Amino acid sequence: MKKSILTNLIAILLCFLSTQLQGQESWIDTSIHSGLIELKTEYTFKTLVSNDSIKTTAETLKNLYKAKLYFDKIFQTDLDFAVLFIENRKWNKHAYFPPPGLPQAGKGNVILGLDKSIVSLEVEKMIFQLPEQYLALLKPVYGENINLDLFYRETLSIHELAHLYHFKEGTKPQRKWLQELFATLSMYSFIKDKANPSYQLMNAYPEFVIQSGDRMAEFKTLKDFEEKYVQKLTPQNYEWYQMQLYRNAKLILDSNKTEILIKLRDFLINTDLSKTRAFSNSELTTRLEKEVGKEIADILTNWKYK
Ligand SMILES: [Zn+2]
Repeated sequence: MKKSILTNLIAILLCFLSTQLQGQESWIDTSIHSGLIELKTEYTFKTLVSNDSIKTTAETLKNLYKAKLYFDKIFQTDLDFAVLFIENRKWNKHAYFPPPGLPQAGKGNVILGLDKSIVSLEVEKMIFQLPEQYLALLKPVYGENINLDLFYRETLSIHELAHLYHFKEGTKPQRKWLQELFATLSMYSFIKDKANPSYQLMNAYPEFVIQSGDRMAEFKTLKDFEEKYVQKLTPQNYEWYQMQLYRNAKLILDSNKTEILIKLRDFLINTDLSKTRAFSNSELTTRLEKEVGKEIADILTNWKYK
């Protein structure tokens, strides 16, 4: 009798442990992987492509791996994730949302374009209608043909990877702009510290957009950003917000250490709306000042458009 109770207990315990272990693995959403081809790489994360005859992934993967090592060390973890490279025409089948080719991340996946992204194609078309003096700002960095995938894919893939480091612990931040700032701060920090040859690829296009002013943005308040976010803003308007955050991230990190990344990530996780109630703007300002840094709270206070 005693023996059977013990056997049952052990069985329950084993069952519990295996659920826990499975729980750790199941963070990666594999439902979007079906039909993709696995690439053999030297890296620890899984890489899947929608077409293995298109060879455009080597440099991106190398950078992502370097970024993983950098973020793992800062956030003291060993993040498991998968990288997907998807052709534009298959985008809707495997990605969580449009537009085709624009990097995105969620549920343990970083999803990137495999062929030239629709966003790059459209922006390049607009840029080539501008006077030569504007093109001259971009050509030395992105080449004579101004290949903006060097920005949209090579740079933004790092921003997306950084998102996974907080998404793993919670996906309902107090504010969307805070999670975007976190991903951009992380990207900026990595490229500045560890991938300096890519610095101009990250910096030149945002500077170009920032210099062109606020005309492209219909909406400009942080409240609008929260309410509309990716799906209800035009791509240009969404980009405008991201560039404002980029400019702030740059100022913050040029005078701060990576400590601020750790604090901001902890803040995102600890105040996730799945655990806490929503803060008012004044509460948020106070908490950010106390728990992360005044320079982060100042973004909210000093945002030009109210
Ligand atoms: Zn983002």
